[in-house]
Amino acid sequence: MPITVSELKNKGEGEEILLNGWLQEIRNLKKISFLVLRDHTGTIQITAKPDLTENYDSISQITRETVLSVHGNLTRKTQSKSGIEILAKSVKVLNEAKSPLPLGIIDPVGADIETRLTNRFLDLRKPEVALIFRTESELLWGMREFFHDSGFVEVHTPKIVAAATEGGADLFQVQYFEKQAFLNQSPQLYKEILISAGLNRVFEVGPAFRAEKHNTPRHLNEFTSIDIEMGFADHNDAMHMLQEGVKSGIRHLVSHAPVSTAPPSAKIQIPEGNFPRITYRECIKKLESKGEKVKFGEDFTPEQLKLIGSEFTSFYFITEWPSSLRAFYTQPKPGDEVVSNSFDLQYREYEITSGAQRVHDPLLLEERLKSKGLNPEDFSFYLNAFRYGMPPHAGWGLGLERLVLIILNLQNIREATLFPRDRTRITP
Ligand code: ATP
Ligand code: MG
Repeated sequence: MPITVSELKNKGEGEEILLNGWLQEIRNLKKISFLVLRDHTGTIQITAKPDLTENYDSISQITRETVLSVHGNLTRKTQSKSGIEILAKSVKVLNEAKSPLPLGIIDPVGADIETRLTNRFLDLRKPEVALIFRTESELLWGMREFFHDSGFVEVHTPKIVAAATEGGADLFQVQYFEKQAFLNQSPQLYKEILISAGLNRVFEVGPAFRAEKHNTPRHLNEFTSIDIEMGFADHNDAMHMLQEGVKSGIRHLVSHAPVSTAPPSAKIQIPEGNFPRITYRECIKKLESKGEKVKFGEDFTPEQLKLIGSEFTSFYFITEWPSSLRAFYTQPKPGDEVVSNSFDLQYREYEITSGAQRVHDPLLLEERLKSKGLNPEDFSFYLNAFRYGMPPHAGWGLGLERLVLIILNLQNIREATLFPRDRTRITP
């Protein structure tokens, strides 16, 4: 039975070993070859010699990144870094790699992001790149566990839809037989229908599509959205769930992912206590005190968000956004309706989540649709769910790649996406 590199430490001197992996490096001296074999758990030195190893002469010809199966004996009489090596009896080529490689795995010169993404299958062989996706997996696992334990039902809503969630131009059109359809921007409308349906608490992890034309380090045209919606709840309940969900995800990540191998730039800290809150109006005051001019009803620029974010060391909420800036389904604040029961979760200048209490009164909802220039007839499948008993409800949507970006302190959201879809890229 083959074992992994990380399991070698439990093996004794002289024990027979079968290992599979990629040839990361090879050094051929006169009567000895040193190979570095890599699998998903680490690397190990393999030594081959003419009197020890079958077909020794062919070994020097093996190209980097060829897939090998090595049979040999473990020894600790070695000068290799790990204190272990394998004396090879045979080195079998399972599948040869072409040479030269379009992207080096261990070459010290860092390749540009486009070359890396074009050759993503090679890029992901670098342990520090694979770590990004192990991190994402553990983070999501921790969040999923939290929502499951808090009584949320995981759901899957359609991604081919007839109406735009928020209207606007950020939609990809799809020819759906005789009809015109769209790829969903967000599961918003369906999540809300499920609250009327009585599921009470739902969460979804799925793709969201945005035909945004701009090319930025924090936008993708397809991203992974974590969404929740809760019945008989308001924006404060939704913020609480978000805060605890994010903390649980990071806690799980820290105790499960091999973060010890993370680059030092990724200072992963589990946030504690309540995330501070600042209202939109307070943000304007703060910015004005720093010499910025912001008109009520305008969105903050990335530079302004940097200024606001510099006051906080970790996650923080911006609450009570102007109703005019938020989608039609956002509940206005009772008694102060120019602002809304809405919030964004922020980390430095990055928006991680948008959420709110939602409108549950069908008449107000219809009015809000019209005021945003949308046609209520296009939304009748949605409005119907409000006419026969819709509980008050609240929820949010969180961009998973953005969360990974800030946790690992990456520069570009494409690094946190296996196969990014952006303005110019649809392959691989
Ligand atoms: P932004 O203002 O940053 O463009 P948004 O306010 O348009 O974001 P929302 O509709 O509020 O985005 O979506 C909820 C969350 O989904 C955002 O907070 C963000 O984390 C994520 N998100 C939104 N658009 C994108 C995108 N194009 N690429 C990656 N993540 C995104
Ligand atoms: Mg938003």
